[in-house]
Amino acid sequence: MLSHEEVPHLLKRSHVVSGYRPLHQPHHFYLRSAFEPHNEVLNVWTHFLPAVALVVFYLLPEMMSEAPRPPVLVLHSGIAFLLLCSSFAHLLHSRSPLDHIFWFLIDFSGIALFGVSIGLQRFSCSDDMGFFMRITYLPLLLLVVLGLQYFSTCYLFVFKPTWERRLELRMASCFFLACWLYIPLYSRYTGATDDEADTLRLHSRAFQWLLVSGVFMGAQVPERFAPGVFDIVGYGHQLFHLCINMVAWNLVEAAERDCKTVDDGWRAPANVAIGVSFGLTFVAIVANMVFMMRRAIKNKYE
Ligand SMILES: [Zn+2]
Repeated sequence: MLSHEEVPHLLKRSHVVSGYRPLHQPHHFYLRSAFEPHNEVLNVWTHFLPAVALVVFYLLPEMMSEAPRPPVLVLHSGIAFLLLCSSFAHLLHSRSPLDHIFWFLIDFSGIALFGVSIGLQRFSCSDDMGFFMRITYLPLLLLVVLGLQYFSTCYLFVFKPTWERRLELRMASCFFLACWLYIPLYSRYTGATDDEADTLRLHSRAFQWLLVSGVFMGAQVPERFAPGVFDIVGYGHQLFHLCINMVAWNLVEAAERDCKTVDDGWRAPANVAIGVSFGLTFVAIVANMVFMMRRAIKNKYE
């Protein structure tokens, strides 16, 4: 394995000194590296195993139930994309700076699908949004997730990858988005019955875990206090992954309680709207990936 002095700047993690895989190896080298010790291996598994658990214990049972609930399927899919995109990004990004750009754009795409899926599920499963919010929430959700958070993150990553404030801006846009996702729950927070208190507690816990994840991500603890000690096990990004798993788990359990079965399934107007929105998100992501990768190839980060 290489030390941080032997890899390009783009591939370095702050305060992580060793455990970098060599560059320019065949793809199967990086796939096989899932079973070897290096500084990304825990990042791969901390999202891959929860993805498998989500599919086996939540997504497949919902799909095979008598009346699958569309908003729940959308949320499960969004979380599965988040976890799998992240897991493969950490596994395959180390081949070259260009591979790094491509795979972390895939990672950001997973985050965008995750963000949209939470908003869509909450929108579809809440009956008490006011009329104005009901007609404006979805277009604004796509604007906030895709325009504000996703596009700005990808743009800075591709066009200004070494800009110091990039991480802070990304975290600020994530925080704004996280708050936006709570709008469909607002009236429940202000007038919750006892019945709903348990479910709201799950939504609140998801937000609390997200805040904790931001600390590990942004402050890069504990590795900043002992560079080199946590290179393989225990640095902040790995702890961030564990917190994100807790966010996802709380969201899935909250959706389980929030979403009632509707007789007309995908034909219900709210579910048509979320289906179309989820489809549009995919189209926007593919277009953005093509645009960003064209630019990245021109930039020649090698
Ligand atoms: Zn990650």
